[in-house]
Amino acid sequence: MNSVGKDEIINILDKYDKDEITIATLGSHTSLHILKGAKEEGFKTVLICEKGRETPYKRFNIADEYILIDKFSDIVNLDIQEKLKSMNSIVIPHGSFVAYAGLDEIENDFIVPIYGNRKILRWEADRDLERKLLVEENIRIPKKYHDPKDIDRSVMVKFPGARGGRGYFVASSFDEFNHKINDMKSRGWIDDSDAEQAHIEEYVAGCNYCIHYFYSSINNEVELMGMDSRYESNIDGIVRIPSKDQLDISLNPSYLITGNHPVVMRESLLTQVFNIGDKLLKSANKLVAPGLNGPFCMQTIVNDDLEVIVFEISARIDGGTNSFMNGSSYSYLKHGPGMSMGRRIALEIKTAIKKGELYKIIT
Ligand code: ADP
Repeated sequence: MNSVGKDEIINILDKYDKDEITIATLGSHTSLHILKGAKEEGFKTVLICEKGRETPYKRFNIADEYILIDKFSDIVNLDIQEKLKSMNSIVIPHGSFVAYAGLDEIENDFIVPIYGNRKILRWEADRDLERKLLVEENIRIPKKYHDPKDIDRSVMVKFPGARGGRGYFVASSFDEFNHKINDMKSRGWIDDSDAEQAHIEEYVAGCNYCIHYFYSSINNEVELMGMDSRYESNIDGIVRIPSKDQLDISLNPSYLITGNHPVVMRESLLTQVFNIGDKLLKSANKLVAPGLNGPFCMQTIVNDDLEVIVFEISARIDGGTNSFMNGSSYSYLKHGPGMSMGRRIALEIKTAIKKGELYKIIT
């Protein structure tokens, strides 16, 4: 199968009326502020939404047009692609778009201009590729264990695929690892193949900060747009149970994100924050040209040595940006009031259109 080439996309873009660009996205994840921001910057907006899930979008009135489809994955259907192109659409990819459209389809079949680098989406989704991006420029990450027999401190054990941490556990020895693997299997939370592919990494005790960056290829600068921390079920409920009672109930933690808190970091840590943002940009440029473009996120834990340790990245807009739909403390410093990540994307597209450089920021 041929992957969608930049030439093909540029051809489509050449036919677009640049004064009538529509910002399009799938109705889920961060679409509310993507489309709100697009509207604020003067674009037309279209939401592609699964039938029955349109209520929040209509109540908040964030789209000029709605394309209702039977199931989210229909976004890659040819008639939908044609419709999007006829509206001069640029699609903003987010986590749900990637999950529903599918990586193969985005790479090979979805021939509509996408904001950012469509190839990098596979790199953030695959744990080994993601690790390569981080290791390339020596970004501090949790130590990885290749053999459970080597476990010599508290480790976190994760399984393949995005599963919201269901079945993930913490262990401190090989025996405890085996015991918990068997327990997860008997609950049906993992199967033998998951167990074989268990990913074991150092458990970092500290505070969670998900750092939202925006790389403007027009200005060639990484901006700090905001930070959130995660509100996760059921772990954040379990920690409200006194520890003496925790031992008596047989609840196993899961880490399913249900919401986000806005947060700011101790100011002296911001040098590290910009440093790791610049490093990720550099390694993405080297490994997955054209590298990063627009929003990206590093999910980190800051330990009591004040190290910012990255355990996961998003190479597109991250869900935590919903915590600053009206701007964050950091976006305020750079852009003044009201700059959400969605609006920042639209501003970049608007600037690129003005400068005749739209081709630079889409694939
Ligand atoms: P998934 O992507 O499958 O949801 P994550 O890698 O985001 O899994 O991990 C889920 C949660 O577990 C994170 O939000 C964080 O709270 C916690 N976590 C992940 N890795 C570590 C680690 N190395 N040390 C401590 N906590 C971690």
